[in-house]
Amino acid sequence: MIPGVFEYHRPSSLQEAVALLAQLGEEARPLAGGHSLIPVMKTRLSTPEHLVDLAGVSGLKGVRQEREQIVIGAMTTQYEIIGSPLLAEKLPILREASLVIADPQIRYLGTLGGNVANGDPGNDMPALMLCLDAEYELVGRDGQRRLRARDFYLGAYDTARQNHEILTEIRIPSPPAGHGYAYEKLKRKIGDYAVAAAAVVLTIANGKCVAASIGLTNVADTPLWAEAAAQALIGAGLDRAAIANAATAAEAITDPASDGRGPAEYRRKMAGMMVRRAIERAKSRAQA
Ligand code: FAD
Repeated sequence: MIPGVFEYHRPSSLQEAVALLAQLGEEARPLAGGHSLIPVMKTRLSTPEHLVDLAGVSGLKGVRQEREQIVIGAMTTQYEIIGSPLLAEKLPILREASLVIADPQIRYLGTLGGNVANGDPGNDMPALMLCLDAEYELVGRDGQRRLRARDFYLGAYDTARQNHEILTEIRIPSPPAGHGYAYEKLKRKIGDYAVAAAAVVLTIANGKCVAASIGLTNVADTPLWAEAAAQALIGAGLDRAAIANAATAAEAITDPASDGRGPAEYRRKMAGMMVRRAIERAKSRAQA
């Protein structure tokens, strides 16, 4: 399969990249690792006339700590996330989720920015960003703005990003030391997108859950933040009844499609199952 004709642009600064996107309009797309964009161009589901490659733009890579936030450059690859000592210490759930994305070849090129900007509910990182209450920094022709991930996803492949905006960094509040975490993903085979997946972070003090957040992947048109499911855990001892309540509340907000990954009812139940498993594993990792 061969993509349609397009013109390739390689700006060397962020200002130049934004100016190109603003000038070229609807028919231009930023290009990061290309592992979501190029496949849809090959099948002609997307036929942009211009690709603006971000690979030559400096300052879009790397992981750093800024006070209580972990800041990750949009062009940081999934491979680099897996190898980051700072993330291993402060946000190990990012490593866990990256390791179940696709395969090593894709992770060498696929970026965090591309994964979250794509708007595909099958991508693993967006639900994790909802769970962690991440903020996205966008730079466009009118300047810079920050948007919560929880406000970013509007529909399948539809996000709050304007066409001329580039996602430059992802800012994640650092969870407290000793927090429990887990990303549970059910997939048909290695390298596949999720049938259903759940991200959980929680904090336990004196035997009770004092903070919790849950995100769901690929069980609706957008990634889901399962607020009521997390609320069902807070104040509880994370016994079987509390975990079952959270799983039921998570299932209630899903609206999966029936497709090659299974009928909708099965995928809804699997979302609940992933939530249950993720809570149990997060609980076992939390320092009470
Ligand atoms: P690109 O493909 O370059 O871009 C994706 C979209 O985001 C495009 O619309 C592009 O214009 C836009 N974009 C990219 N960067 C920016 C930016 N900085 N600012 C604004 N817009 C931007 N992903 C998963 O999460 N889970 C999986 O299990 C999984 N399995 C896969 C299996 C296969 C066989 C393949 C080919 C891909 C798979 N992926 C999976 C997708 C992979 O992780 C992609 O690399 C990732 O989703 C997109 O990142 P990218 O850097 O390749 O972005």
